[in-house]
Amino acid sequence: MRESLLELLCCPMCRGDLAIDAETREDEEILSGKLRCSGCRKEFLVIGGVPRMLPDALPEDMALTAKNFGQSWKLWKDIDDERYRWQFLRWVQPLQPEDFKGKTVLDCGCGKGRHLRVAAQFGTAQIVGVDLSEAVDVAFANTRDLENVHVVQADIYRLPLKGNFDLAYSVGVLHHTPDPAKSFQSMTQQVRAGGTVACWVYGRENNWWIVKVVNPLRIGITRHLPSWMVRAIAWVLATVIFCGIHLVYVPARWVGWKPFYADYMLYLKDLGFAEARHIVYDHLIAPTAFYLRKDEVAAWFETAKISTPTLSWVQKVSWAGVGRKPAQ
Ligand SMILES: [Zn+2]
Repeated sequence: MRESLLELLCCPMCRGDLAIDAETREDEEILSGKLRCSGCRKEFLVIGGVPRMLPDALPEDMALTAKNFGQSWKLWKDIDDERYRWQFLRWVQPLQPEDFKGKTVLDCGCGKGRHLRVAAQFGTAQIVGVDLSEAVDVAFANTRDLENVHVVQADIYRLPLKGNFDLAYSVGVLHHTPDPAKSFQSMTQQVRAGGTVACWVYGRENNWWIVKVVNPLRIGITRHLPSWMVRAIAWVLATVIFCGIHLVYVPARWVGWKPFYADYMLYLKDLGFAEARHIVYDHLIAPTAFYLRKDEVAAWFETAKISTPTLSWVQKVSWAGVGRKPAQ
């Protein structure tokens, strides 16, 4: 962590200010040390350059989510800035790179740090990535070359942050938390009056077959299997999907026919096999996954008093919501 993070960070227990006691440094980076709260005196360790600010114990479902997704990001830790840039802009639409310029930004659920890199390169003043899992180690390594990026391990329901962000986003994460609506509100509270909130979540519409077929298999079987076995299953399924794409969806496009799920299948083709296999893997290992209707996502914004958000139906399988908090 860099010392400039202290402007944004606070104690997750009592909201008190934190002071850093650095043990090892490398240039501007504090690699190990202790953060101490001026209020309740609680201490938080900095390990491997990342402040560890989780509560002492996590509920069982969140602990399993952290374990499974932490493993997943360690398996697929490579970064491809160009691909992630177009993907990210699709997920935060209609935001554009200039909406990030000069802003203080929060990424809720940063995973391996791919969007931290993209947003930082759009010119954010500072960006903080928060994640529950050990993926923070991958995110730290993946963003170490970028001075305006910070990574913190924390729980979305107890964010150790002062709430002075211009923009907060969460991409592909809220639906994996135990209470997505509450998670959305927790993220939104971190944004100043007049600031922007963006989220992307799995949609319920068109995903009835996942809810009916994949969910029971995931809940009953695959989320409990060892990682190597799920990887093998994901490889087989991704192979079947890619055969389907090339035998059905690509020829269908030639003749102007749009079968069910066409937008998403052609998007997977553009992403490539490795990325698609990772998506399948994540669907099989997630301990918690909600598929949300448009009106449910709209209600989150309404509760946060964000009027007229933009809700986009991405590839007809997911929802991207963006809105602005009222000015004071
Ligand atoms: Zn405290």
